[in-house]
Amino acid sequence: MPKMIRCGDLMPGCNAVVEGKDVAEVMAKAAEHAKKDHGLTTIPPEMIPKVQAAIKDK
Ligand SMILES: [Zn+2]
Repeated sequence: MPKMIRCGDLMPGCNAVVEGKDVAEVMAKAAEHAKKDHGLTTIPPEMIPKVQAAIKDK
């Protein structure tokens, strides 16, 4: 099932929406976006549950 995440749910002020065919793809793309646009070279472990909670069905 396609999934999506609104980066603004985690990073207030960001308008990016990341979509993928499943949770793993959304996580991978979100990590890439966070690195490129937010300077996060790694996702802090305590943030992962928040990222997962923010992932919605598309
Ligand atoms: Zn963002």
